[in-house]
Amino acid sequence: MDFGSRPELRFLEDLGLQATNQGCYGGGEWRAGGKSVSSLSPASNQPIATVIEGSLEDYERSLKACESARESWMLVCFSGFLFSPILIQSFIVRQTPAPKRGEIVRQIGDAFRKNLENLGRLISLEMGKILVEGIGEVQEVIDMCDFAVGLSRQLSGLILPSERPNHMMMEVWNPLGIVGVITAFNFPCAVLGWNACIALVCGNCVVWKGAPTTPLVSIATTKIIAGVLERNGLPGAIFTCICGGAEIGEAVAKDSRIPLVSFTGSSKVGQIVQCHVNSRFGKCLLELSGNNAIVVMDDADLSLAVRSVLFAAVGTAGQRCTTCRRLFVHQAIYKDFIEKLVTAYGQLKVGDPLKHDTLVGPLHSSQSKQAFEQGLEAIASQGGKFLTGGVGTTTSPGENYVTPSIVEISHDADVVKEELFGPLLYVFQFKTLDEAIAMNNSVPQGLSSSIFTKSHETIFKWIGPTGSDCGIVNVNIPTNGAEIGGAFGGEKATGGGREAGSDSWKQYMHRATCTINYGKTLPLAQGINFN
Ligand code: NAD
Repeated sequence: MDFGSRPELRFLEDLGLQATNQGCYGGGEWRAGGKSVSSLSPASNQPIATVIEGSLEDYERSLKACESARESWMLVCFSGFLFSPILIQSFIVRQTPAPKRGEIVRQIGDAFRKNLENLGRLISLEMGKILVEGIGEVQEVIDMCDFAVGLSRQLSGLILPSERPNHMMMEVWNPLGIVGVITAFNFPCAVLGWNACIALVCGNCVVWKGAPTTPLVSIATTKIIAGVLERNGLPGAIFTCICGGAEIGEAVAKDSRIPLVSFTGSSKVGQIVQCHVNSRFGKCLLELSGNNAIVVMDDADLSLAVRSVLFAAVGTAGQRCTTCRRLFVHQAIYKDFIEKLVTAYGQLKVGDPLKHDTLVGPLHSSQSKQAFEQGLEAIASQGGKFLTGGVGTTTSPGENYVTPSIVEISHDADVVKEELFGPLLYVFQFKTLDEAIAMNNSVPQGLSSSIFTKSHETIFKWIGPTGSDCGIVNVNIPTNGAEIGGAFGGEKATGGGREAGSDSWKQYMHRATCTINYGKTLPLAQGINFN
């Protein structure tokens, strides 16, 4: 069934979506026997389309297919060259498998380029972020593909001389096999890209479970990747996608056939996943909750800083892991800075995320809005004083729009230690840099942080050992201003994961440490007669 009666949804057909969709791509075919769910638009709470989720049986069938596809992907370069009459050519090809996989990832990037507008529009429609952010998310996947293609030409091991005579030490990096990827609703496409592009060039198969409330993005993204695999005659089982909730996520976490689980989501669920993976001695890559701060020094470029704080606090309606939720302003400029910020908040256009002049879209779901409203009440009960927005200022019931809020509160209040997922900004003043750094570091999470200053002493203190304790430590750009190729990932309760960045590929591979004896003697077990 198509979207004939709903012309505004016809673009979904170009992404291979229909009014009802199979939510499992396993073993190269779309087949799902789980429950039927409606994907709702956050802007209207109206259904967009129906998805039949994957069941545990679908999961098992897909995993078996993935296991048998593993070798053909690890050794993808062999096909077509195996019967080469020139042995030396075959040898050279064996030495360079990753660039062949890189070529497939390059084609995946091109396929995303062709679908940039439509997929970005779907992300905006189903997740609720504004259109430019939806398109920007697809661009991140394209950038990750480019990054991974380059990486595929530099993956290598190390050869070291041994201290023993006639011995050599080698580090050989091999694929892990299957990488499980579990993702959050707020980046329904980009996070898959951060993981899958690198996992694939490293020679792994990928099994992906997206968020249960963004299944259409999962399906459309998978169709783009599956199309490239199929056009190249590769098994579709190299990439598996299963729409579903916690049950499928737990199956991935507990599955000893999956040596690495990359989990992106809340710290609470991340901890559960980590326990399951650890209990079977698997590896976990965790990208969890943030509670990010911006520090504005008295020598900062104020117009740069105000613009950055606004973008970091209300972009994606405050539903980014890197959203700025805590603002520390030097006491000498506090009053002036906060006045400017409150004035800017007054001009924010909250509304339909697909309209080009909207700056703040809705929260993702009615549950998100309820959690945000409860959070505002908790803030008020712990002494918070709202400078704009606050309790009772959210829009009409039945809609997911909320008013971006700024609040003054003691930095010791319990609410300040938690991530409230929405456009909420706590503001504080400080006297010294040390005090600001101590407050920045005083929460359990350690994802992103930024400072605005012109002083090089301040910058190097901030990024050094006694500065910010976060994984992302920015200067004069917002907390959510990181670039692809920079390492993602935070410290402390944010999980310590590292995606993208110069050495992230090592997470997706297994290092074999090899000692090779090319002589004829073994200087061990001396004095024993073996004859
Ligand atoms: P969530 O933790 O509720 O869900 C994340 C994923 O886990 C979903 O796919 C969900 O279905 C799955 N899941 C739920 N229970 C599970 C279980 N028991 N076992 C296995 N999987 C399970 O998170 P969310 O609400 O979708 O996303 C918002 C959170 O994600 C925020 O805390 C945000 O900061 C964080 N996030 C972090 C990053 C990062 O890079 N650090 C990026 C995006 C989002």
